[in-house]
Amino acid sequence: MTNLDEVAPDVFRVLGTHVNMVLLRDGDALTLIDGGYPGDVGAAESAIRSLGRRPEDIHGMLLTHAHIDHMGTIVDFHRRYGIPVFTDPVEVAHLRRDYLEQATAKDFVPMLHRHGVARWLVSIARAGATKQLSVSDGLAFPAAGALDLPGAPVPVATHGHTSGHTAYHLPQHGVIVTGDALVTAHPLSKVSGPQLLPPVFDHGHGDTAAALDHLAALDADTILPGHGPALAMPIAEAVAEARAR
Ligand SMILES: [Zn+2]
Repeated sequence: MTNLDEVAPDVFRVLGTHVNMVLLRDGDALTLIDGGYPGDVGAAESAIRSLGRRPEDIHGMLLTHAHIDHMGTIVDFHRRYGIPVFTDPVEVAHLRRDYLEQATAKDFVPMLHRHGVARWLVSIARAGATKQLSVSDGLAFPAAGALDLPGAPVPVATHGHTSGHTAYHLPQHGVIVTGDALVTAHPLSKVSGPQLLPPVFDHGHGDTAAALDHLAALDADTILPGHGPALAMPIAEAVAEARAR
């Protein structure tokens, strides 16, 4: 079974440990959006090599937000290959770990009796969830609009899940990479389909709901979330469904 899935031409979902990474391809060159857990580096590398590419072919890496389950491969490739890391100007400080807006193990203690929670905690701990990662020289997007990177992703500020959370729009393919602003499944959620993450993960749940307005305004009908499978649905419809839950 491959962990790689082409959701639109040259747009790939790479499955990590209950989390998605995204590869954009333009000829020989790649962009990586999000990097899974520290334990997902091997999954990212094998996906890249199965495309006949090498990590060094990545021109730039983008973070939706600086949570450990999205940083693993990005931190590793930044150290090993010096590939630049870009994120929202607000999120750059979070990536540096000037502060931390992330749930910790104790936040999940009240949920331990619930089905699947303990097993999920064990699997993410194995994937390196308790590691402390940071990038001291992450870069803010150089200008507004499409980035000069393979796939020409357009950052969409969706602050809320973290203070600088960003989604990435691929207008030429009608794809929206939503990160954790909108997901389609999660091991701690009983339902599948468009939804917000359980509130325990959010820095500010109110802002997270407001961020959905920015998503709903986009022209996109393929949703590639941080967690859960890709979904073919107009984003405005998915936002309405998530809100109705
Ligand atoms: Zn996440």
